[in-house]
Amino acid sequence: MNNMNPKSLIVIFGATGDLAKRKLFPSIYQLYEKGKLSEEFAVVGVARRPLSNDEFRNYVRQSVENALRQELSDLSFVSHFYYHPFDVTDIASYQQLKTLLAQLDETYHTDGNRIFYLAMAPEFFGTITSRLKSEGLTATNGWKRLVIEKPFGHDFRSAQQLNVEIRQSFAEHEIYRIDHYLGKEMVQNIEVIRFSNAIFEPLWNNRFISNIQITSSETLGVEDRGRYYDHSGALRDMVQNHMLQMVALLAMEPPIKLTTDDIRSEKVKVLRALRPISHDEVDQYFVRGQYGRGIVNGKEVISYREENNVDPNSNTETFVAGKLMIDNFRWAGVPFYIRTGKRMTEKSTKIVVQFKDVPMNLYYRTNEKIQPNLLIIHIQPDEGITLHLNGKKSGENMKTTPIELDYCNNCIDGINTPEAYEKLLYDCMRGDATNFTHWDEVAASWQFVDPISEVWESTKAADFPNYEAGSMGPKASDALLEKDGFRWWPIHYHQ
Ligand code: NAP
Repeated sequence: MNNMNPKSLIVIFGATGDLAKRKLFPSIYQLYEKGKLSEEFAVVGVARRPLSNDEFRNYVRQSVENALRQELSDLSFVSHFYYHPFDVTDIASYQQLKTLLAQLDETYHTDGNRIFYLAMAPEFFGTITSRLKSEGLTATNGWKRLVIEKPFGHDFRSAQQLNVEIRQSFAEHEIYRIDHYLGKEMVQNIEVIRFSNAIFEPLWNNRFISNIQITSSETLGVEDRGRYYDHSGALRDMVQNHMLQMVALLAMEPPIKLTTDDIRSEKVKVLRALRPISHDEVDQYFVRGQYGRGIVNGKEVISYREENNVDPNSNTETFVAGKLMIDNFRWAGVPFYIRTGKRMTEKSTKIVVQFKDVPMNLYYRTNEKIQPNLLIIHIQPDEGITLHLNGKKSGENMKTTPIELDYCNNCIDGINTPEAYEKLLYDCMRGDATNFTHWDEVAASWQFVDPISEVWESTKAADFPNYEAGSMGPKASDALLEKDGFRWWPIHYHQ
């Protein structure tokens, strides 16, 4: 197989849904446009609503045009798309799908390679995978891969159940669990920054780092996802997956090689080293929040409890801040603070690595308070790194001033970093599972998170809503760091 231009059939279950429209079709188009897909591919869309192939192709074309804000002049791309309407619970229809895939395999010379992408609600995952096997769609001469969207379970038990179900039909190495944060350019860059710079790795431990802060803030509320979100909340929606994955990448030991298995096994070790939080310690380590009314981007917005499909007395958290301790040699004593929430001041994902203070301040006579050195990794929307140092204030006798060394990845004209989904789809086609989550990671993450959600679900948060929309979360989130002598570094350092 030509590994750079993989050939395969991609079956998208849930092809008329939001994810397919906004992310999957535009990403497949980008790969095609960049010549990363050979002409030897076809996409089959599955959903219930009746559409002809032509109507579906038109729909795909519009989705791509809307996402890229440009018209497609060449329609050869959409000619690779086919639509096969059926209810995934209807067993008989899988046989017709099987016939279609066999025909397309011949037409496009795809060697029996198949990706089954489940862009549907998780309750269907088990049904679809078991039918794919029982009806013989997974019995192919080529490779077969399963791509699964989050959420992967609701807690450890349900995740384990789901895993057992899908493992009946797919082996672990054939399962690609999407965590789209792992497709982001700067998340992938964490590894490069750490392991290719001689100046960081020697300092990357509890002797030189005082704390690490990860913030992922959104300005949006729940939009039209109220029904899902009110049963999920920020802990399950963001912390169990994206936030813990970033912690693992920041904290892992250098892998022996940059292979999928070596990297994953180092990440799993971090997740296993997370200090477990017992029910009665939750308040000590974690803070929950829910947004009230407020002003975001100059506009008045309603509170979470007033949103569509949200219980007016909802106890669901839209904000989480937490302190994580990693009990291993490298990180003993270094808190990793995380926070994430909706309706916050600004959309931003950022990591701040705060180094310890110099052993002795020689500048105390000039009343100087030296700023700590910070390494800031900007994940989104800015992509780049900033290193905060101290320099001499020009002209003034030995006074210090903070200076910033800045590298902005997406400020350079012409550099348009690929969408996470584009990279992840391409990885999946090439059989590179490094940036997907292994079951062991999912399991360890749920085991860490479960006691927290158990406490939060069984006790009503008396102070909800406890942060104003447009703010950086409840006061208790600031207090979490203050009691350790730290503070959240602002999203914009100059504030
Ligand atoms: P969605 O907009 O609700 O789409 C669901 C799709 O499933 C539609 O195409 C629907 O089409 C189809 N469908 C529903 N029941 C069906 C059935 N019984 N048989 C066949 N098709 C059926 O959902 P989504 O937002 O795209 O999300 C899909 C998955 O991705 C979910 O697991 C979600 O958690 C995850 N996800 C989504 C996003 C996002 O940005 N949207 C982000 C992260 C993860 P018909 O009504 O025509 O059948």
